[in-house]
Formats: sequence, structure tokens, C-alpha cells
Amino acid sequence: MKLILFGPPGSGKGTQASLLSKKNKIPHLSTGDILRSKLEDNDSLAKDLSQIISGGNLVADSIINPIVTEKLLSTDCKNGFILDGYPRNKSQSNFLIDFLANKNLDIDLIIDFKADINTVKQRILERSKIENRSDDNLEVIKTRLDKYFSETQPITAVFKQKFKEKFLEINAIQEITKIQYEIENRLKNA
Ligand code: AMP
Repeated sequence: MKLILFGPPGSGKGTQASLLSKKNKIPHLSTGDILRSKLEDNDSLAKDLSQIISGGNLVADSIINPIVTEKLLSTDCKNGFILDGYPRNKSQSNFLIDFLANKNLDIDLIIDFKADINTVKQRILERSKIENRSDDNLEVIKTRLDKYFSETQPITAVFKQKFKEKFLEINAIQEITKIQYEIENRLKNA
């Protein structure tokens, strides 16, 4: 099962990805988590990444694209994957669409988590008390949300158009269990 999740930071897509990953035994590929794990390397790439991530800006496509394709081609992903946080802009989107076509990888479902700015802001601030992420403060949250709505949201429209039958919009303000139920129901018919 191959899934792509879209949605602003704080829309709960990570939570659903993790539930789906456990239930279906397929890896949750969160590009945010992968990049954060690279920060532990303490090399010059880690220093650059740390600056970009803590400012809420997007890491260069030349860094993220090969990281994602290497993962997608790994044996871990032979039964599928849940892509969370990628693609995030037009060029990543073009790159991924070409890559999937070249490798004959068919996406089963694309899920778009819809949530308003105020709700996600509040959720990220709550999360910041628990997770201690360098990018969960008001100023950086604003940058991350701006990036989402200016760069990522427009590409969801491209995916919606291109994969009409495989696109599910979810009201992400609902309770976790309700969202989970809606996704599972749709997957039964995917
Ligand atoms: P996230 O955990 O998805 O909110 O991602 C945290 C941060 O990692 C983002 O604010 C970006 O700095 C970086 N990041 C994650 N995914 C991508 C991506 N697809 N392209 C560029 N930067 C990314």
C-alpha cells in the first residue's frame, strides 16, 4: 500500500501516518523525522540543516530528493510506504511524479488533511511543550505555515487533478479516531 499525505504542520498527519504504519506494517517516511535524525551526525550538512529547519525554511531539493528516492527504493518499502512531508513544492512534486512513473510505482491513496490556520497554530504550540522541537515557536510556526499555504497547498491541487480517483480530503479538525475510521473505510475500497 502506497500512500502520500498532505496537510499543514499540526494537522495530525504524522499521528495518522504512525497509526497506519503500525496497522499495515509499512514504513512511515516522514521527511521531517529523517532530516531531524540527520542533525545528530554533527557534520557540516547537519549544521546547515539545523539552521534551515530551525528557521522553518525548506531544505534544498538537491538534498531531500535523493534522500526520499533512496528510501522509496529500499527493501523496507517493498510492500509500500506512507510519505509524510514530501513533496512540499512544485519541483519536488514534478520530481516525484516522474520518479513514480519511471519506477512503475502506483499510489493507492493521497490524503489531504484540511485544517484552518488557528487550529494548527494552537496544536503546534501544545506539541511544543512535549516535543521540544526548535521550530515549534510562534515566529517559526508562522514561516512554516506560510510556506505550506504558498508552496505546498497549490501542489495538492495538482495531485487532486492528476489522481482524481485516489484523492481523499479529510476534515482534520475531527477526533483522531474519527479520522482513522474515515481513512480505513476509504482504504477498504481503494
Ligand atoms: P516537518 O516535521 O514535516 O514539519 O518538517 C520539519 C522541517 O523539515 C521543515 O520545516 C523543513 O525545514 C524540513 N523539511 C521536511 N520535509 C521537507 C521537504 N520535503 N522539503 C524541504 N524541507 C523539508
